[in-house]
Parts: sequence; C-alpha cells; structure tokens
Amino acid sequence: MSKKKINGDGIYFTGESSNDVTGSQYLVKFGEKKCLFECGLYQSKTNSYLDSYKINSKKFKFDPEEIDYLFVCHPHIDHCGLIPRLVKNGFNGKIITTRNTAIVMKALLLNCAYIVNDEARVLSKRYGRDYAPLYGADDVYKTLDLIEVYDTYNTVFKLDDTVGFQWLNNSHCLGAAQVQLILSNGSKTKKVMYTSDIGSLHTKNHYLQDSEIPTMFNDVVIMESTYGSRDRISNKTREFDVEHLKVAVETVLERKGSIVLPCFSFSRTQEILTTLYDIFGKDSSFVAPVIVDSKLSCEICNLYSHMLYGEDFSLWNNVCQWQNVKFIIEKEDSKQCLEDNTPKIIISSSGFCTNGRIVKYLQKYLQDINSMIVFSGYAGDNDSFLSYRIKNNKKRSHIKINKVPVANRADCITMSTFSSHASNFDLVEYGSALNTNKLVLVHGSNESKESLRGELEDAISQNDSTYRVICSNKNMVVPF
Ligand SMILES: [Zn+2]
Ligand SMILES: [Zn+2]
Repeated sequence: MSKKKINGDGIYFTGESSNDVTGSQYLVKFGEKKCLFECGLYQSKTNSYLDSYKINSKKFKFDPEEIDYLFVCHPHIDHCGLIPRLVKNGFNGKIITTRNTAIVMKALLLNCAYIVNDEARVLSKRYGRDYAPLYGADDVYKTLDLIEVYDTYNTVFKLDDTVGFQWLNNSHCLGAAQVQLILSNGSKTKKVMYTSDIGSLHTKNHYLQDSEIPTMFNDVVIMESTYGSRDRISNKTREFDVEHLKVAVETVLERKGSIVLPCFSFSRTQEILTTLYDIFGKDSSFVAPVIVDSKLSCEICNLYSHMLYGEDFSLWNNVCQWQNVKFIIEKEDSKQCLEDNTPKIIISSSGFCTNGRIVKYLQKYLQDINSMIVFSGYAGDNDSFLSYRIKNNKKRSHIKINKVPVANRADCITMSTFSSHASNFDLVEYGSALNTNKLVLVHGSNESKESLRGELEDAISQNDSTYRVICSNKNMVVPF
C-alpha cells in the first residue's frame, strides 16, 4: 500500500500486528481526519536484531505529518516503541493517553532508545556498515511533549468538531484502556472500538480493574487474539497459582535453594511482589530476602507510588516497606547478590530472559538441583527465547545460555493466570457479546485467529447475533 492509497474512509491495517503479535499500528481515516491506534515497535520472533531493524526502519505507509491524533492504550514497547521514529519523521499531532500510561511510557521509551541505539551499534559492528539508530533520546523527549492526558474512563471527550473518544476499563496493565473512537461530520457517524492488548475479564489482579465488555454499538470492533488458539486453554484459577507459589517457595527454601522469577519490569514485577507480600508479609518467621534486581523494574516500582491512590497506594507502600524486600539498582550490588549463596527469592528482568541481569541468575541457579525457576505468563513461542527453552525443555540435561551449555537441574513451574492477556475463554466471552457490525481479529498468529474465529462464530449465533468475524491481514482495509 502506498501513501496515495490511503484515500477512502475506513480502517487501514498498516502495522505488523495485523499478521503477528507485535508492532501494533492501525490507521483510521474519516474525511480530512486521520487517527492512529498506537505505533509499536516490531520485535522479531527469532530475536534477530537485523530482522527487527529492517521492519522498524521501513518507510511509514502514510505521511506522519498528516496524522491528527495518535491513541496509546498502554505503554508496552510493541504498542508505543515506534512513536519516537514517527515524530522523527514529521508527526506533530496529539498523543492521547491516560495519566499512568504517560508516566510509564517515559521510562519505557527512554529505556527503548538506549536499546535501539545499542542494537544499531551491534549491527554496524557485525556487518561492517553503518546502521543508524531508529531514534534517540531527543526524539523520545519530543514525543513526550506531544502527550495530552485524559484520565476519566467511560466519559466521551471531544477532540474537535469531528473526533471524539472514550476510554473503557482494561486490566492488561496499570493505566491500560480500550478506546472507542467516535467520528462524526453531521451527516455520517462511525464508531470504532479498539481493545489494544486486553487483560482478563474476571481475574482479580491487584491495582487493576477487570476489563469490561462494551455494551454500546460500534460499526467495527478490533480485538486482540494472542490466546485465540484452543490449545492455550488452562483451567487454573488465581487461587490455585497463589497456593502453588506458596508451597513452592516453602519447599525450596526448606531445602536451602533459591527461587528465580523472570518478570517483565512493568506490572508483572509489581503484581508478583505484592502476591508474595500477601502470602508471607505478615509471617514473622519468614526471613528469606525478596530481591528485585533490575534498574528498570526498580524505577517502575518507584513510579507506582505516583500512580496509585487510596487503598492501592497504601498496599503498595506496605509492600515496599516489607523488611524482606530489597531493591537492587546498581550493577555492583547485583554482582554481590549473585555471589551470595543465602537462599532467597529473586525477581529480575527481562521476562523473556533474552538479556538483563536475569541471564546471570539463570546461569547460576539453573544448575542447582535445590532451586526453582518460576515463570508467570507468556514466555515466547520458540527456542530463540531463553525463557521458552527453559520452560519447554524440562527433560533436556543441558540448556544453552549465551551459547554455553548449562546443566538443567532446577525445578521449573509456570503460573499461567498471571498472564496479562485475556484467556481463550475470556476472548470468546468478549467477542460474542458485542453490539457491532464487524469484529476484526488482530494481534495473534494466523492459527490463533482462525481458531478463535471458528469458536466466535458458533458463540455469536448461539447469542442470536449475526455480525461478521474477520481475521486481519497486513495491508487490509475495512472501508466505512
Ligand atoms: Zn501489552
Ligand atoms: Zn501487545
């Protein structure tokens, strides 16, 4: 699709997430107005810097200068990590988001600028030619200047004579929203709902409101389908996972081992830490240190004090003041912690274990028969992710970490209810209860989308509804 092809009114599926689970970007054109739903970085399936770089440095399929509004529903990098490049290429419209997403976006985008810079340096060295970084910290600051915060949910805001919107609850992470875009020019009105990544409908997480199913009419609903495939079904409840974690921690500490929890810096780290506090915080006989070792995770833990109110604020305060908890920011302190053999609980990043301090902890504890690795949620879908290799090769005697085989002796468990994505059950419940003309499935593998479409069509007809379910494709257009 070339620039000139964006002419008729409708939704243009311009991003990689039309075919994949990463790189979210959808353009809505209505008369003279152009809006974007997110602008995320593409993260290669095989963790290849070159593949990611090639896709992220491609020309935008529209003129960035012509975009009026960019809606950001949550700050994960695959949903906002390409915005600084959009700004670098001329975007000067408004970035519409929630207060908490704006707060975290600053930390995550600055961290991302550092990473894209480092990846460009590695690529230049590896291939002997100049790979310019996708963007720099200065582009991130220009991006942050364009943010306009709207913090009330279930209230329609008018941005101009034509464009209005409202946020709906989304439990994907703190500050997340779904967005309904309302476009009207007097003679024609179009309403588009975008779920972004959607969190669970029923699991009670700390600090989050369960995701809501929109009851109002929409011409089109765009829904994510990460867990669309039926083989992702799990019948576990959060209570089960919490009990499992409690028993695992007690067993491992008794045999003088340590627990290693690879966690994403934002939302998962804080949820797991709070869960551990719930279980052991008031038990004076529980003396094991609980370590959060990651600069970014600690930074976001700090931000939580500015993001939470009322009871949530008090709870988080208690968690941070729990005498067992230690936040490790500096590299030197991390090194010391790694060398210390006291049994402990370690929460570190990255969640996929592809880089960060978690890799060192895994090198040490994977070979310890008394220790345990605990995954929470998605761990990647192929062997290029260390998290996937550990989680899915329990019987293998060795696992390669940075190309060196490490004895695979530690126990390994997974707590699936901590995933930040709606389960297959939730997706079917949500997608079959809508008041819409069309439901478009995005942000999932083709198998996942096709499988979910089948389930949804059955459930929709059982609900006596008739709307169409469409699996997205890259460069697809849904005209108004
Ligand atoms: Zn997300
Ligand atoms: Zn996503």
